[in-house]
Amino acid sequence: MALGSIAPWNLLRFSRRAKVACSVAFVFLATTLLGSGAHSARTGERAPGAEQSAQRSAGIAGNHSGENLRFYRCSLADPGYKRASDDRKCIPNELGKIMIVMYHDIQSEEKEWARSRENFRKDLERFYRQGFVLIKLSSYLRGEISVPAGKTPLVLTFDDATPGQFRFVEKDGKLVPDPDCAVGILLDFYRKHPDFGCAATFFIDFPAPFGVPSQVEPKLRFLLENGMEIGNHTYNHRNLRNSTAEEIAEEIGKLAAAVKNICGYEVCSLALPFGAYPQHKEALASGVWEGVEYQNLGVLLVGAEPAPSPFSRHFRPLAIPRIRGSEEELSKWLGYFQRNPRARFVSDGNPDTITIIQGDEGNVERDRTSGKRIVVYRRNTGDSKAASPCTSPLSGSPGH
Ligand SMILES: [Zn+2]
Repeated sequence: MALGSIAPWNLLRFSRRAKVACSVAFVFLATTLLGSGAHSARTGERAPGAEQSAQRSAGIAGNHSGENLRFYRCSLADPGYKRASDDRKCIPNELGKIMIVMYHDIQSEEKEWARSRENFRKDLERFYRQGFVLIKLSSYLRGEISVPAGKTPLVLTFDDATPGQFRFVEKDGKLVPDPDCAVGILLDFYRKHPDFGCAATFFIDFPAPFGVPSQVEPKLRFLLENGMEIGNHTYNHRNLRNSTAEEIAEEIGKLAAAVKNICGYEVCSLALPFGAYPQHKEALASGVWEGVEYQNLGVLLVGAEPAPSPFSRHFRPLAIPRIRGSEEELSKWLGYFQRNPRARFVSDGNPDTITIIQGDEGNVERDRTSGKRIVVYRRNTGDSKAASPCTSPLSGSPGH
C-alpha cells in the first residue's frame, strides 16, 4: 500500500527545533507506529491533547481494520535524541547498515582464514573507538536492538568451532578460557570496556566443537552463561549446494538436536558451510529431523558487505551478508562508514522506537516493526519553511 494513500485517521505531528552543539538543528517529526503493519500519518491536524505533554507517548488515536493506531511524538528533551544529535556523525538512523563480522580461526599468525590474536585485539579496539557496541546475532534477527544513543550495533560471528576460538586452560584447579583464544580475548576486552558489551555467535559443527570432545558441554554452557550464542554450521560441515531438502533438514536438524541435548539451548541461526547456497531452500528456515523441529531466524552468507537493518525492506532473513574479519575487508568497510556516516545504523537509544531519516519511509519493512514507534526526522536546512511544524513527514513517500 502506498503511504500516500493513507486515510485521515491518524495523526499527530509534532515538531520542534533545537540547536545542538555542532550547530546543526534537527526537527523531529512525530509519526506513527502501529502494531503490525499499519501506517502513519499525515494530516495537518494536531491530535487532541497534543499540547499537554512533550515527553510521553500518547494513547489510542483511532483504528483501522480493527488495529489500534497509537500516535507518538518525541522531543529533543529526550536524553537519547539529545545525545545522539550532539555529534552530526552520530545522528540516529535505524535503517542504516550493520556489520556482521565473520571470523574463522584466531591463532598466532595471520592467514587467509585466520586472524592473528594481535590483530583480533586491535580489531576490538578499533570497533570500540569508532562507536560500535556488540549485540547478539539473535537480537539483530529479532529486531531487538538495545544499544546507547549514538552507538552502532556490531555482530561478531565465528565459524567452524576451532580450538583457537575457545580453548580451556587450568587455573587454580579450574578450567578457564585461555586468554589467547577468541573467547578469552573478548572477555578480557569486556572487563576493560564493559560498555562495549560481550556478545558473539559461534557457528559450530560436530563431532567435536572447539576440538576437545570431553569439553564440548562445559564450553557450550560457558558461552551461553557469558552472553554469547551458539549457531548452526550443520552437523558435518556439509556443502549443501546440491543436497536434497531431506539431506539439508538432516544436517541442520541433527546439529540443532545435538546442541539441545547437550545444554538445552535452541539454535536459531545458520551459517552456510563454504557459503554454498542450496538449490533447495525450503528446509533452511525451519524443518523437522527425527521428530525434532528446528527453526532458523536467519541464514548467513560468507561475505561480502554490511547487512541491512532488520527494519529495512532490504532485509532478507534467508540471505544475510557478512564481512570477512580480515585486515583488507575490515579497513574497507570501517573506512566506508567513516566517509559515509549516514549509511551506518545509529541507535536512538530507545529500543521501542525506530528513528529514521525523512525520505527513507518507503524503506521501512512494516511487518518487522510491530509494536515499535517509527520516528521520522529531518535535518533543519535553515529554511524556515522546511522547518515548519506543518511539514508532513510521510507525504509523498514511496509505497512498498
Ligand atoms: Zn565453515
